[in-house]
Amino acid sequence: MTAAMDISITKAERSKLQDISLENMPFGKYFTDHMLEADYENGEWKNVEIKPYQPLLLSPSVAALHYGQAIFEGIKAYKDAEGNAFIFRPQDNYKRFNASAERMQMPPVPEDIFMEGMKQLIQLDKNWIPNKEDHSLYIRPFMFSSDELIGVRPSDTYKFMIILSPTGPYYSAPMRIYVEEQYVRAVPGGVGYAKAAGNYGAAMYATAEAKKKGYDQVLWTDAFEHKYVQECGTMNVFFIIGNTAITPSLDQGTILDGVTRQSTITLLKEMGFTVEEKELSIDDIIEAYKANLLYEVFGTGTAATISLIKELRYKDFVMKFDVDNWKTAPTVKKWLTDIREGRREDKYNWMQKI
Ligand SMILES: *Cc1c(COP(=O)(O)O)cnc(C)c1O
Repeated sequence: MTAAMDISITKAERSKLQDISLENMPFGKYFTDHMLEADYENGEWKNVEIKPYQPLLLSPSVAALHYGQAIFEGIKAYKDAEGNAFIFRPQDNYKRFNASAERMQMPPVPEDIFMEGMKQLIQLDKNWIPNKEDHSLYIRPFMFSSDELIGVRPSDTYKFMIILSPTGPYYSAPMRIYVEEQYVRAVPGGVGYAKAAGNYGAAMYATAEAKKKGYDQVLWTDAFEHKYVQECGTMNVFFIIGNTAITPSLDQGTILDGVTRQSTITLLKEMGFTVEEKELSIDDIIEAYKANLLYEVFGTGTAATISLIKELRYKDFVMKFDVDNWKTAPTVKKWLTDIREGRREDKYNWMQKI
């Protein structure tokens, strides 16, 4: 892939940064001055370009719009107090991206295009990384099939892109969660472990139904018995029961292998918890709640880091939690944020300097 590493760079004539403030940015609404684009054709990646952020010109017959061969990633970059820029565990996202690609019958993206391309793009738009606590630059790599043909088959051509969006503190208020028993997100043998676009479109109806009932999100359960918990909306989920932290295992291929999930497991162990990745049934959760052993429940993901769950409803049984007195989830969140923003030692080498 030597040719691929010739990234052609066309700079924007004027930075949009002059027109906006990086404080209190809403999530995912503003994009930086540049984007990366690469094409897959005749079995190879080519035309790797960084250029001014701009709309795409697509044929209405582009395959991704019809059959959803499309995947994405979500990563964050931070600045420390000295203004040095770092990306949080990008290698893990790179591996997951190609795992998603394989499952969706799409070509892998070479490491140099993904990693080098991302670094060069961020370097160019470095001024867009907010230099404030709890602020970051959200990185969105994605790939879609681009054949102009509406026959149902894998494309011969694909487009890989990276866009960047500055984000402020993603405050997520403690959530009320509805344990979903009718709709499902993922089944063994399905695509639940892939960050495939269709997973998110397919989840919106159930989420909207839960919102109508007054809940913020659903807790997905398994497709066969609606008994084993999977994920909370688009976040991985953790239950602190006694001195054990439990999160659903990845074994069935129904859970997204979250980078925040992995990081949380590591930090919980550092805090002295026993961490178990296993099947966890709603019955076990209720039993622990009734025995006053269910101390904390929270979601993990790149966008919000850690989201506390203040209420879980299963059928007519409501479990409420006193989130204001929690210690564990807020500590994990603080440690993670401090590592990312350079206030806590990065002993696991999670931060990659640009
Ligand atoms: C992206 C995602 C997560 C969180 O993964 P992170 O790598 O921690 O951001 C969890 N669940 C789903 C369904 C996701 O798409």
